[in-house]
Amino acid sequence: MTERYRTVLLFGAPGAGKGTQGKILGAIPGFYHFACGDVFRSIDIKSELGRIFYDYSSRGELVPDEVTVKMWAQNIRAHTILSDYKPNDDLMILDGIPRTVPQAKIMDQHIDVLKVVHLVCKDQEKMFERLRRRALKENRFDDADEKVIRRRWAVYEKETKPVLDHYPADRVVEVDSMGSPARVMHDILEIVEPIQTQHFKRFGEDD
Ligand code: AMP
Repeated sequence: MTERYRTVLLFGAPGAGKGTQGKILGAIPGFYHFACGDVFRSIDIKSELGRIFYDYSSRGELVPDEVTVKMWAQNIRAHTILSDYKPNDDLMILDGIPRTVPQAKIMDQHIDVLKVVHLVCKDQEKMFERLRRRALKENRFDDADEKVIRRRWAVYEKETKPVLDHYPADRVVEVDSMGSPARVMHDILEIVEPIQTQHFKRFGEDD
């Protein structure tokens, strides 16, 4: 088997702040941030994949596993060729994927999950409020409708949460996502900084 991409997962319910934190983390050299929902949204809605994405996401449902993982693998391959993502230098930060146990199983062939950062928000209403605000700001059709928000939440509980049990318990770390963005980033950095340092040492020595 070829070497797997060294990866940290940003995990959490819709509205937990994965996207905000992922973008900040991705701006730090040595991290490559892949946000699955953002990549789906960037696909031309008139293309076949764009239509599939619209069809599922507008109902608050997940895009089928095979289509999703294929899209992820193609995207990563392309960015590796373009050298935006350099597996030997960069830790991959995955945000919003894997989102089901079958996705996690397929992706095990390709990724070595070093940590799962679980952004936890105990206050469900606050998360719904975040989603509504984001819908207005970012023009997101899937968060504009109360029914779709609640469906997204239910899908998270049923299909995505079990992904946490797919990984060894000592690799999953909880971070309270209700603090200020800087506070949450601080807590995430405490977890990922040693991993990045280790990654740097490893490839520095090998090279
Ligand atoms: P997000 O921006 O992460 O909330 O994702 C928006 C929508 O994209 C989701 O509601 C799904 O329809 C789709 N999506 C994003 N990531 C995945 C995934 N890993 N598996 C299936 N569907 C996904």
